[in-house]
Amino acid sequence: MGPGVAGLVERYEPVIGLEVHAQLLTRTKLFCGCENRFGAPPNTLVCPVCLGLPGALPVLNRRAVTLALRAALATGCTVHPVSAFERKNYFYPDLPKGYQISQYARPLATGGSVAIDGPDGARRSVRLARIHMEEDAGKLLHEGFPWSGERSGIDLNRAGVPLIEIVSEPDLHAPAEAHAYLTALRALLVYAEVSDGNMEEGSLRCDANVSVRRRGADSLGTRTEIKNLNSFRNVARALEHEITRQAAVVESGREVVQETRLWNAERGETAPMRSKEEAHDYRYFPEPDLPLLAVSASWIEEARRSLPELPAQRRRRFVGEYGLPPYDAGVLTEEKEVADYFEAVARAGGDAKAASNWVMTEVLRKLKEGDRGLASCPVGPEALARLVKLVDAGTISGRTAKDVFEKMWATGEEAAAIVEREGLTQLSDDSALEALVAEVVASSPGQAASYRGGKEAALGWFVGQMMKRTGGRANPQRVNALLRKALGGGS
Ligand SMILES: [Zn+2]
Repeated sequence: MGPGVAGLVERYEPVIGLEVHAQLLTRTKLFCGCENRFGAPPNTLVCPVCLGLPGALPVLNRRAVTLALRAALATGCTVHPVSAFERKNYFYPDLPKGYQISQYARPLATGGSVAIDGPDGARRSVRLARIHMEEDAGKLLHEGFPWSGERSGIDLNRAGVPLIEIVSEPDLHAPAEAHAYLTALRALLVYAEVSDGNMEEGSLRCDANVSVRRRGADSLGTRTEIKNLNSFRNVARALEHEITRQAAVVESGREVVQETRLWNAERGETAPMRSKEEAHDYRYFPEPDLPLLAVSASWIEEARRSLPELPAQRRRRFVGEYGLPPYDAGVLTEEKEVADYFEAVARAGGDAKAASNWVMTEVLRKLKEGDRGLASCPVGPEALARLVKLVDAGTISGRTAKDVFEKMWATGEEAAAIVEREGLTQLSDDSALEALVAEVVASSPGQAASYRGGKEAALGWFVGQMMKRTGGRANPQRVNALLRKALGGGS
């Protein structure tokens, strides 16, 4: 796009709204008894209802409604006592009925918000327009089969899986904010045990509506919708690209075309997919096979009581119960599985601050490096707690512990077994250390003299020598004390 791109982004303000689809953690589908499960062989979890065979009638899954209510309560939405299912009509090969049962004019819940950290670190809230329920469609399989070069397959296992669609107001003004919003929303859904939030398996999917306007302008520009955003990183990348593209179009005096665009992660760009459909293109009408959805006050209360601890509550509890600094509590609670892991280490080990340090540094670093989650991590929380205890007890030094941790992560072996086999026990015994200290001091009279002359840094030099000689196993506190004694004088 040549020169002036940076200037473009300064002159134009992006306006972003996100539509997030989340699959609900039910045992069965939304309108039939078929199992709701990812990864089964194609077309094995289907029946006349989710295949859309003539005469088959839908029956609403009560559990799905309770989970949708939990999501609404977790985001502070207003739940409507009566909402309605409607048919959204369109043709696509993964939709055998020719329509999707969704909610349109009367959604389950409206309003609400999600809190995010703004660019200045201050909390701000992103308003939600609505949360409604709908069924998922099937999936086209374009690759992975011997015949994939010539044809595509259709897997209808996903047809009828319960979804909620969470629509935000256009309150986001930077790709980084969109990323922060998705992170916070995903955490809420996972904590509330509404969805597993797994983007690789498609449990969480995101479409973005984006437009640009000159900074300071009130009216909105023409928006495009971007689809195929299968990771948070891709959402941010696609938005960056689309914002720059639109700003360049407007700057050149042309008009942005209202359309749906597809994100191509390999090429790093969006491309037109189809002209954007309007709601009236779908010919929504009330689903005649389902009654209105009436949610009583006691049902809402039941959902509220079943709501597990949410991220903000957990953050506060980590500060109160474990005495963690608020920063630690924030990092540890960002993802539920990390928070669960930390808490298991702290409970098994006793020293919460040490547990927090280990999880925030070593464990999170390992998770970032690899692609496996904590569920399949080779160092369980109890095993890590036992390693922390070895440091606490002075059996090994903190430095040695990091090496031991690496080995535990690689092999799944116990800390004590590694320490024992490799002779890593910390040298704390004065009689053994004293002889070494005497040797080190005697061999460097110059350094000894400068320490005695008041140069405190010389002590550090001697500590370094001791660590070299013992392979890092010497207890630093004992070494310090013995060196000061042997050197005499100084400070
Ligand atoms: Zn079915």
